[in-house]
Amino acid sequence: MGRLRDNWLVVAAASLLAILAAAGGLNPAFAAAAWLLMMLALLLGPVMTAEPPAIRPVVAPAPAEIDPLDGLARAYAALDLPVMVLGEEADVVLQNPAAAASFAELAPGLHLSARLRSPGILDMVRETIVTGKPNQMEFSERIPSERVYLVRIEPIVLPAGSTSGKEGEAARYFALSFKDISELRSLDRMRSDFVANASHELRTPLASLRGFIETLQGPARGDLGVQERFLGIMLDQATRMSRLVDDLLSLSRLELKSHIAPNQVVDLVPLVSHVRDALMPLAHDLGVEIRMHLPEGKAEVTGDRDELIQVIENLIENACKYGQEGKIVDVFLRQQPGEAVEFSVVDRGPGISPEHVPRLTERFYRVSVADSRSKKGTGLGLAIVKHILTRHRARLVVRSELGKGTDFTVRF
Ligand code: ADP
Repeated sequence: MGRLRDNWLVVAAASLLAILAAAGGLNPAFAAAAWLLMMLALLLGPVMTAEPPAIRPVVAPAPAEIDPLDGLARAYAALDLPVMVLGEEADVVLQNPAAAASFAELAPGLHLSARLRSPGILDMVRETIVTGKPNQMEFSERIPSERVYLVRIEPIVLPAGSTSGKEGEAARYFALSFKDISELRSLDRMRSDFVANASHELRTPLASLRGFIETLQGPARGDLGVQERFLGIMLDQATRMSRLVDDLLSLSRLELKSHIAPNQVVDLVPLVSHVRDALMPLAHDLGVEIRMHLPEGKAEVTGDRDELIQVIENLIENACKYGQEGKIVDVFLRQQPGEAVEFSVVDRGPGISPEHVPRLTERFYRVSVADSRSKKGTGLGLAIVKHILTRHRARLVVRSELGKGTDFTVRF
């Protein structure tokens, strides 16, 4: 009965409906039966009231006890910089995988000196342990390979009460990191070698120019014959200096754009013919015949037209100059369908002995400085060629046999 009381509005509506239905002409017995059915449904049917969803309390999991030293080990494991964590006795507490790879795995607890015998590093570590101040120094290792590191030590204080420290006391550790700066140092060395070489190359013709000018102003004043001869040599020296400056500028321009790949489509066939025509007077003077072996159709590569001309010119000119005694220089351009384009310059000169071959593309490297100078060389030609080919993702292969000749091949 409680349910009928709770749903009195439904009971009243059902009753009114039955009365209206009877008044409207429905058999009163039917109207009464319908009313009775509705009451029964109300009494026996399921309770339809919506109950609010139960709210389940969300309980945050209790933070797990993390050992700060463990946290440190996990953080350093993600670094590719070798790091060792030392204790107050300069004992190795942990080392990250990068340190294990660079300095071999150390059993925890071993003194740092078990791996690093450098007195400089050990002194620096001792000093930081005493003063608590960070410090850094350069350190180089020769074995297994020459490497230069910037070694830095920094104190780390872990919170008091950590499982690794003494009860109630903050734990003190020291992070010893090794930043590999070998590349940086070798670049520095190359740069300063380069500046020294370039200055030396410029200083020689400059000194000779000064000498001639002083002679012309002094002892040779008024001697027309000597003046004529000296002015010719001075012109040669000045030309040599401007060649050198041009080559240096070429190199520096190439360095600036070394990361941008060229994107023109260049047919090498007309390019090689054009360079050959330009070099004909030189070949003629040297008594060399340039023989061309070009393909029927095109030989297209993606590249920079002017730079490719520089490569072709440099290789053919070198073959004429240094392979002069062979009298013939063969120039091949090959393009097999589906294969890489290949450009080769083959001379029948004296050849290059094997120890020089790997160094030919170094700046200012010459098999014979005097020979190169007498042939108006700067020692930068093949360095420029290598730079251009690197930018073109092409390879230079040098094959040479003493007494037989040399083959410079470019594979695009
Ligand atoms: P350079 O300005 O002296 O010609 P390069 O860089 O073009 O400088 O060449 C470097 C050196 O390589 C030359 O001085 C020469 O000794 C050697 N070389 C280059 N090409 C040949 C060749 N075809 N045959 C023999 N030696 C060569």
